[in-house]
Parts: sequence; structure tokens; C-alpha cells
Amino acid sequence: MSVTTEHYRLLVIEDEVDIRRAVSAALRDHHPAIIEASTGAAGVGAVDSSRPDLIILDLGLPDIDGIDVCKRIRATTAAPIIVLTARHGESDTVALLNAGADDYITKPFSTQELAARVSAQLRRSRAPRSRYGVILADGLSIDLHRRQASRDDVVIRLTPIEWELLSVLVSDPGRVFTHQQIFAAVWKRSFGDARLYLRVHVTNLRRKIELNPADPRLVITEPGVGYRFILTP
Ligand code: CA
Repeated sequence: MSVTTEHYRLLVIEDEVDIRRAVSAALRDHHPAIIEASTGAAGVGAVDSSRPDLIILDLGLPDIDGIDVCKRIRATTAAPIIVLTARHGESDTVALLNAGADDYITKPFSTQELAARVSAQLRRSRAPRSRYGVILADGLSIDLHRRQASRDDVVIRLTPIEWELLSVLVSDPGRVFTHQQIFAAVWKRSFGDARLYLRVHVTNLRRKIELNPADPRLVITEPGVGYRFILTP
């Protein structure tokens, strides 16, 4: 089977030359068009000049804080950003996702795993995101136009908050939304304990839409970070 991803342009922003070369080498087979940048400023410039389809961004750069670089890139492109991080901890991960990163991978990582993440993000970014279609997942039907969810042709009664919560998550299946991102999108404000609000409503939503709320397959918890919606067949 032929690989149809060859036309994608990838940008690798990493100051450590060995890691930058290893990353490029690992991806070059499937993605020959790879641009490299060794500083945050050069990376932001390359995003503007080369319009890459995906960006791999190292968090530890010599000139600009990686999270700031991430924000600057996100301000100018919707292309997926995968962050390479040596840091640990929930708050960093949350800060990264809030800054617009799509995924992160902690050093040291295998080049196979990186290549798999890159493929997944390219697939995700290419998938149509219909605002008015019908999404089918695990027997659940979500009609975005009519703003209703049903299972076996029986409409599920969702509160407005539960509907908003569900529609935020299904707007980008597979993406991890942070507590703060979901909270801001659903409640249209940024104050309040996002996790607490969400925990209550996610529990209620799962009770209504999941086949087994105790073992959810649709709305998945990312511990300490947020939630994502999975499109199961
Ligand atoms: Ca670095």
C-alpha cells in the first residue's frame, strides 16, 4: 500500500543537534519534507515562512520559553503541535495543552513512538470536523445539527450543560481538552473550580450516554489533565 502522507511538511524545533537529527531521521522515510530550526525564534519564523503541516517542538530552547513558543505558533496556525518534554508533572502538561499543544511525548522516547504520534496527529488534523453532521460512536448517535444524542433511536435527555460539554469534546475526537479549556467553552467564563464542576457533569453525562458508566468508552479521563472523546467503532 502506498503511503499518502509524503506531501506533508514537518517542522522540528530543537536546539540539541543530536536529538534534532535523530527526530528528522526517524520521520524522513514517510515525510521527506522536514524543516529544522534550532531556536524558538527561528521556529516561529519557519512557521510563518514555510507553513508546516505539523510541528515538533522541544520545550527546552535556549532563547524563548517553550510554552511561549507554543503559544506564538498556535496564534498563527492550526497545524498540530507535538511537544518534546523532559519535564514531568501534571501542571506542565496542562500548561502545554492550554498553550495549544495537541500532544506531548516525554524524553527519552522511541522513534517508533514518535512516528506513531506524528501519524495520529496528521490523521486527526485531516479528518473532517463537521459541525452539523451526525457522529456515531459505540452505538451512540450525536446529531450536531439537531443538538441531540440518541441510542437505539431513543433520544437521550441531556441538560444544556451536558450537551455543551459533549459537543466540545466531540468537536475534535481524540484530542485531550484540559479542564480549563472545557470549562471556558461550556460556562463561558474562567473563574470557578473547573475540575469540580466538570467532575459532576461528566459523571451525569456518562450515566446517560455510556453503555457502562463505570467503565466509560466514550468520555475518557486523562488523569490530572482533562478529558477526551474517543470515536469507538
Ligand atoms: Ca532542548
